[in-house]
Amino acid sequence: MIGVVAVSHSARLGEAALELALQMVHGGAPVRVAAGAGTDGDGTPILGTDAMAVASAIDELAAECDGVLVLMDLGSAVMSAELALELRSSDVPVRLAPAPFVEGLLAAVVAAAAGGSLDAVAQEATAALEAKTAQLQDDAEPVAGVPVSPAPKSTEAPRVTRTVRVRNPLGIHARPAALIATTAGGADVRLRRLPDGPEAAAGSLSSLLVLGAHQGDEVELSAPDDAVLAALAALFDDGFGEGVEGDQAPGAEPAPPQPAPGAQPAPPQPAPVQPEPARPAAAAEPAPLDTPGTVLRGRGVSAGVAAASVVVLAPPLTEPDSAVVVAGADREAEASRIRQAATAVADDLAARASAATGQARAILDASRLLAADPELIAQASALVRGAGRSAARAVWEVASSQQQALQALGGRTAERGADVRDVRDRIVAELLGLDTPGVPRRDDPFVLAAHDLAPADTAALAGGACVALVTEQGGPTSHTAIIARALGLPAVVGVAEASRIPDGAVVLVDGDRGTVEIDPDARRIEAAKHAAVVAPFDGRGRLADGTRVTLLANVGGASDAEAAAAAGAEGVGLFRTEFCFLDRVDAPTIAEQVTAYRGVLSAFAGRRVVVRTLDAGSDKPLPFANADDEPNPALGVRGLRLARRNPALLDDQLRALAEAASAESACVDVMAPMVATVDEARDFAARARAAGLERAGVMIETPSAAILAAEVLEVVDFVSLGTNDLAQYTLAADRLLGELGDLNDAWQPAVLRLIGMVGSAGRATDRSVGVCGEAAADPAIAPVLVGLGVTSLSMAARALGRVAAALAAVTSEQCRAAAEAATRAVTAAEARAVAAAVLAR
Ligand code: PEP
Ligand code: MG
Repeated sequence: MIGVVAVSHSARLGEAALELALQMVHGGAPVRVAAGAGTDGDGTPILGTDAMAVASAIDELAAECDGVLVLMDLGSAVMSAELALELRSSDVPVRLAPAPFVEGLLAAVVAAAAGGSLDAVAQEATAALEAKTAQLQDDAEPVAGVPVSPAPKSTEAPRVTRTVRVRNPLGIHARPAALIATTAGGADVRLRRLPDGPEAAAGSLSSLLVLGAHQGDEVELSAPDDAVLAALAALFDDGFGEGVEGDQAPGAEPAPPQPAPGAQPAPPQPAPVQPEPARPAAAAEPAPLDTPGTVLRGRGVSAGVAAASVVVLAPPLTEPDSAVVVAGADREAEASRIRQAATAVADDLAARASAATGQARAILDASRLLAADPELIAQASALVRGAGRSAARAVWEVASSQQQALQALGGRTAERGADVRDVRDRIVAELLGLDTPGVPRRDDPFVLAAHDLAPADTAALAGGACVALVTEQGGPTSHTAIIARALGLPAVVGVAEASRIPDGAVVLVDGDRGTVEIDPDARRIEAAKHAAVVAPFDGRGRLADGTRVTLLANVGGASDAEAAAAAGAEGVGLFRTEFCFLDRVDAPTIAEQVTAYRGVLSAFAGRRVVVRTLDAGSDKPLPFANADDEPNPALGVRGLRLARRNPALLDDQLRALAEAASAESACVDVMAPMVATVDEARDFAARARAAGLERAGVMIETPSAAILAAEVLEVVDFVSLGTNDLAQYTLAADRLLGELGDLNDAWQPAVLRLIGMVGSAGRATDRSVGVCGEAAADPAIAPVLVGLGVTSLSMAARALGRVAAALAAVTSEQCRAAAEAATRAVTAAEARAVAAAVLAR
């Protein structure tokens, strides 16, 4: 049996194409198929292809197939498939088919179901477009010059014939053709449209389609014996189950749309080499960022906090001169240097791969294959021989053109452009006798700052002294992010000024918040070091007198949730759903949302998960939700306010969540961000309940909501204090401005008093009051929050142990006394000091 793997940039496209193909053989045919596409760190499907996924699809099929045919959609899917051949662990014969994706897949599946060999299945797939080409002619005759699928030539052996009539309304389209092919089951059956139409082999979907047999046409069937002909004739008589003359069967396919006359697909063009985006010239560079307390923003892609001095990665290589022309007599020798340099780079990467493990090893291996790519070497050598380019320039041009072609495809494939650029730079450096670009070797801890990190750079970080990463480029699925998460290094990407941070400056990298603070004060560095130590948690938060305080986790997706469950979190107190869709240009579909939410819910079966509806806007804009021209985004249409403009966005999310909740056994609570009025709270609760979600709450992030907490708690089931925003709005201090960090502090007495109002309202109504802002993760303030009436604390999972230990050391009475003392203070410093004194008694 032959297996078929479909490699698509879109998992949904791949699966849909497979579904269509399997319908042709009624799903039960002895063919095994698998889709290979990309997923992000959370396992959520994204656009792009993933060589590892393709390799495992091949390996999966290899266990029960004699051969595997791989079909691919766009250009870089071919690269992934080729790479997969290197990465797979099975040794079954595998063929990559240069076939159209959908038509080829149908043809391959049908041919495989008919028992075809790997050669036959590959040939069928490759010829699959011929049928469409012929069908699009006016009279459905084959096009002159287009070869019709090979029907076997007449043989000497006597053949039996039968004449049948096409009775179904749509003639021999894809589904009947597939039925014919599977019914023939590999027998030498041929069909000819009478009186003088083309001939087709029954096992060939493409040639059957080229027959152009319409309702009413007569077809001659021929075979060495009559048994199979009788079965085929019955199919024709039955109209292939689609009804006969005049009956339109309910499931019949509509006629395919006709293309505009003369429309032709554009022939593929080689991507022209664009100059690299110019790096700012030294003279035009803004001043280095050395003001203590400056906070740079980016996207946190790997959690954790670390502080150390910065090493800025050397700038990329400069482009080799295009004006150099190598003399004719020297070209052969110059060209041969390319292979030598590429081999040296590939050998170096191979040696590093063998010293690495896991993902780092896979990445180094992939880079090694790119360095040894025969196409790259052949094309670059041809440029030297034909145009007299220097070897370095030729490699630069060919690899840059490949890189740009990958980037043009967008999504995850675009991120693979960094792999090609990395290999290009290594070969060029080898040719020019320059130091190999890459991560410096250091003994002291350092934070690596760079314009971008090549995969081989990030892979080389394992076991080194690097404690955090900061880059200008990169996304959540870039290698930087993948490796940083795998190595447990905090990482922030998309920091526009990363490579302007002065070499040697001390920075505090916060991978949870996506911030890089330059030259922070000693107290913050100490806190960061402290935070980096993970204390164990036994899964049950309580005070010294046994009073329960539920300790929950903040998560942004399935992998966070799994880590939080492993760390003992009692549930999830804040699932920031916007984190699942930060890269989306279009709103996620309900199905996509259900998948994302179920990933989190399944990690907490039987436990509480508080899901926050999209908090888009301000520091977390989502392209599909926010207008980008607000003068004050923190005060604008963000969070729940989006529903004023786009109620369907909220209602769809609530529907998706209800669907996810009913499919999982977690106890799902839903809450809205950025609520300011009782009406907003009431309306939100009504919408949530209408969608089927029983328990609805709101975040208390505005002073208005805190002051109105008693009334808010009359219309919702619970509240959760977002102390980050509550401090921002209470002190009117942008939470992103490091310069105002002293104001963005939950110890500010005004913030403590607002929290106290909410806590009292919670006690009076016996409703739960949580804290899910950063204050919840601070062991010093946690007992004060409990004393103010807070019943649960939700934080980054690794803070659970320390907060649990701080709570276990104090009684309810001490918590209340500390809260009273802190709220009477008039400064944050005083509040800290008096609370600490009471708690230490
Ligand atoms: C908060 O504001 O405290 C909060 C938890 O929400 P976010 O940090 O996501 O704005
Ligand atoms: Mg908030």
